[in-house]
Amino acid sequence: MSECYYSPAGPRDGRITLGGAEARHVSRVMRHQRGDKIVVVDGLGTEFDVVLEAVRPNEVVGRVLAAATGRREPRHSVTLALAVLKGDKLALACEQAAELGISRFIPLKTERTIGRLSAARLERLQGVALAAMKSCTRTVLTVIEPVQDLARLASRAAEYGQALVAYEDEYESGLDNVLDRRASSLLLVVGPEGGFAPDEVRVLNSAGVKSFSLGPRRLRAETAATTVVVSAMQLLGDLGGRNAPEQP
Ligand code: SAH
Repeated sequence: MSECYYSPAGPRDGRITLGGAEARHVSRVMRHQRGDKIVVVDGLGTEFDVVLEAVRPNEVVGRVLAAATGRREPRHSVTLALAVLKGDKLALACEQAAELGISRFIPLKTERTIGRLSAARLERLQGVALAAMKSCTRTVLTVIEPVQDLARLASRAAEYGQALVAYEDEYESGLDNVLDRRASSLLLVVGPEGGFAPDEVRVLNSAGVKSFSLGPRRLRAETAATTVVVSAMQLLGDLGGRNAPEQP
C-alpha cells in the first residue's frame, strides 16, 4: 500500500467522500481518475478498497469494494504519556511512538516540565500523528490527548490494564520484570528533561503505577520515550518478527 487516504467519517451507503487536503492530493498531486482504485482508512482500524467514481479538486467520491479491520495493528493498546519536551523533541518522540503503534499520546505536565504546549503545537502533534499513520501504513490514528498533569494521570491509571513509569532512579526492575503480557491496555509514563521529582514517583506508585528502569545509562527523555515503546512492543510480541503477507 503506497498511498492511503484518511476519512474519519468512513463510508455512507457504501460510498466514501474525501474533501479538503485529501481530495486535493487524490486529484491534483496523484492525478487519479474515475475508475482508479485507492485505499482509505478511517483511523479507527478499518481500511477500505475504493474505486473512484467522481474526482474533483475539492471532492472525491468512491465506492467501497472491500473493507478489512485491524490489519498491521498491534494487538495491545499502548498509551504513551510523555512530559512536554522543548523544541522539536516532543513531535519527534510522538512521531516515532505513533509509527511504532501506540494508540494514544498524552502530553504530560510535571513539576520539572519546561516545555509549553500551545494550541498550535498541539495541532502540530495531531498532524504528526496523521502523517505517521499514513507513512507507516497503520489503520489506527494515534489519539493526541490534551495536556494532563501528573496528579490527573495518576488518578486515571486504574483505567489501564497496567500502568508503568520509566524512572531513572529505579534500580530493581527492568521492563521485562514488571510488564504484564496479559494486560490488554498499557500506560507507559516518561518524564521531562530534568527527570521526575521523587514525590511525583511516589504519587504514581501509590496509584498503582509501577516503576521500571531502562538500564544503567541516563537516556534523554525523547530517547527514553522511543526506547520504552520499542521495548514494550517487542516484549508484547507486537514488534519485529515475521512479516507475513496478509490475505486480501
Ligand atoms: N536529567 C535527569 C534524567 C532525566 S531523563 C537526571 O539526570 O536525573 C528523562 C526521563 O527519561 C526520565 O524521567 C525517565 O522517565 C526516562 N529515563 C531516562 N533514562 C532512564 C533510565 N535509565 N531508566 C528509566 N528511565 C529513564
